[in-house]
Formats: sequence, C-alpha cells, structure tokens
Amino acid sequence: MRKQIAAANWKMNLSLLQAEELVKALMDSDISLKENQVALLGVPFPYLMVVKQMLNGKQNFFVTAQNCSANDNGAYTGEVSAEMLQSIGLKYVIIGHSERREYQHETNAELAKKVNIAMEHQLQPIFCCGEALDVREAGDQNTHVQKQLEESLFHLSGEQLTNFIIAYEPIWAIGTGKTATSEQAQEMHAHIRSVFEAKYGAAVSDTISILYGGSVKANNAVEIFGKPDVDGGLVGGASLVATEFAAIIKSLKN
Ligand code: PEP
Repeated sequence: MRKQIAAANWKMNLSLLQAEELVKALMDSDISLKENQVALLGVPFPYLMVVKQMLNGKQNFFVTAQNCSANDNGAYTGEVSAEMLQSIGLKYVIIGHSERREYQHETNAELAKKVNIAMEHQLQPIFCCGEALDVREAGDQNTHVQKQLEESLFHLSGEQLTNFIIAYEPIWAIGTGKTATSEQAQEMHAHIRSVFEAKYGAAVSDTISILYGGSVKANNAVEIFGKPDVDGGLVGGASLVATEFAAIIKSLKN
C-alpha cells in the first residue's frame, strides 16, 4: 500500500525554544506509526539539525526542508543547496509551495530543476501544486494542475516517480480556514493520479502518495484523509499546535 503521510509545514514560524517545545509535546503524544505511515516536520533551515536529533529513533518520523536551491553549491548568497541537505542526513524536501511560487516567482521550469537536483542528492521531493481562486472559479483547475505536473515532473522516468509525493494545495484554501470539501479533494486527487496513469501506467501512478493541503485541522482530517485518493496532508497552521498535529497524524489511514 502506498505511504500515508502527515507533513507539517511550519513556514517561517517559531523561535528555537518554541520549536523544541512543540517537538517535545508531539513526541509525548503517544503516536505510533504503522509501517506505511510517515510523519514529516517541515521546519525552518536553522532548526533542521536540532529537530532531526530530537526525532532520532522515533519510528517513521522525519524532518524535511521547506525548499532547496535550483543550483549546485557556489556563489548564491542566502541559498541552501540540496547537497547541504543531503550532507546533514535529510531524506525529504518540499518543492514548489505556492507561497514560494508567488513571492519568489518560482516557475514550473525552475521547479523542474529543483526536483532534479533534489533527486540527484537522494532527497524525496514533496512537490506542491494547486490552483488560485480565479482559476477554480473559471473551472480550469484540472488543466492548470496538469500543466504544473507536466512542466515540472514529466521529464522524470517511471522509476523516479514510483513512490513519489505530490501535495495538492488549492491556494484559496491555504491559511484561509476555507477547506476544499473532501469531494473536491478526491476529485482533484483522482485527476492527478489519472494524469500520471496516462503517461506512466497504473503500476507507477498507484504508488504515488497524493497529499491534500489547505486548512486541514484535527476536526476535518479523518473525513479528508478517508477519501480513496487522498494519502494524507500537508498542514500549515494546525501543525504549529501539538495536540492538533498529533490528532491529524492519528487520522492517517492504515
Ligand atoms: C500550507 O502551508 O501548506 C498549508 C496547507 O497551510 P494551512 O494548513 O495553514 O492552510
């Protein structure tokens, strides 16, 4: 069975002390993950090592970076390379979050480069896609998301896409308290899976974990994660509260 994943995206939040308190509270929350379940903590760069050490020995809990550079090491002040992330023992990196697409003007072509460089360094991308409100209102969400996937991921081989992780995050639902209905999530997730199936076949598309992101909370996670093509969530605001995120992790399907 494909992996069921609860991924926290802390964004640019928390002091080191607050971060440590949050991880400690999570570790004390009596969560035991099944073999096919994974919890990821997407923490700011300065906390990666500390949080990684705190998760040491905790079955199926991993830390993830929120971004990496599209370039190799070199004269790129302020950037963090995939090689650096690999060198500290990371296994995951979030790529193409809508906030980075908007504020850092990341394009589908640049994200393709980030995906490549991450994978060259054995980092599993959590690749984000999703449409803005005007796109949804125009009924163009399926073609919009398909274009994001085609332009950033379709150069990869079926082998590289096996067990890949996609996060579908409708921008109108991020941080707004406005969640897509579980039916809307299922509909888009099924579409995403069909896009991969058409090009790579079901043997590949069936292994891809597709996470939903957009105002996931403890009180809606069971309903959303319960849909057949929803394999967990990428969670912003609610991941900053230990009790909320613990409940969200516990809502993953077996
Ligand atoms: C996100 O930042 O990826 C996200 C989904 O945020 P929130 O859960 O706060 O909507």
